[in-house]
Amino acid sequence: MGRVMTNDPSCIFCRIIAGQAEASKVYQDDLVTAFMDRRPLTPGHLLVVPNEHTANLAGLDETIAGRMFVVGCQLAQALRRSGLRCEGINLFLADGPAAGQTVFHSHLHVIPRFIGDGFGLRFPPGYGSGASREDLDTVAAKVEAALRGNRGESSEQEE
Ligand code: AMP
Ligand code: ZN
Repeated sequence: MGRVMTNDPSCIFCRIIAGQAEASKVYQDDLVTAFMDRRPLTPGHLLVVPNEHTANLAGLDETIAGRMFVVGCQLAQALRRSGLRCEGINLFLADGPAAGQTVFHSHLHVIPRFIGDGFGLRFPPGYGSGASREDLDTVAAKVEAALRGNRGESSEQEE
């Protein structure tokens, strides 16, 4: 595995990438590094991280983001072939504290899953009834406008 310079010495993942902190690495290239999560949800739980320190998704270069996902998919396939218990895979990325991010160097979790592993997502109260098409279309319009670089609504419509 190649040598990568640390870019934020106060960041544990930057130190791992640079080989200055202990980790069980499984992969490294010019753009990303993958290593075992030290508190695995299931055996084989991996993290894929950009080599360049990037706290959140907004700061992530598109090529690097793409590489994270591709390597995450390759690791998912490797986990299925590894002999570890792996009947399914979750890819998970927490962006921001409200989403559960605790290490502020972006990372993609690759989590082997099996029936009865005890892990899962908790759904909010009221989940399951489904939204109306009208509500879905209203929300879709906001996202679509934001994607185009707008704020989603004209200033006259804002509260
Ligand atoms: P998140 O909640 O998505 O920010 O996840 C951070 C993940 O990083 C957790 O699953 C931690 O167990 C993991 N983690 C934190 N420090 C280390 C470390 N030094 N080596 C490996 N994994 C770590
Ligand atoms: Zn970092």
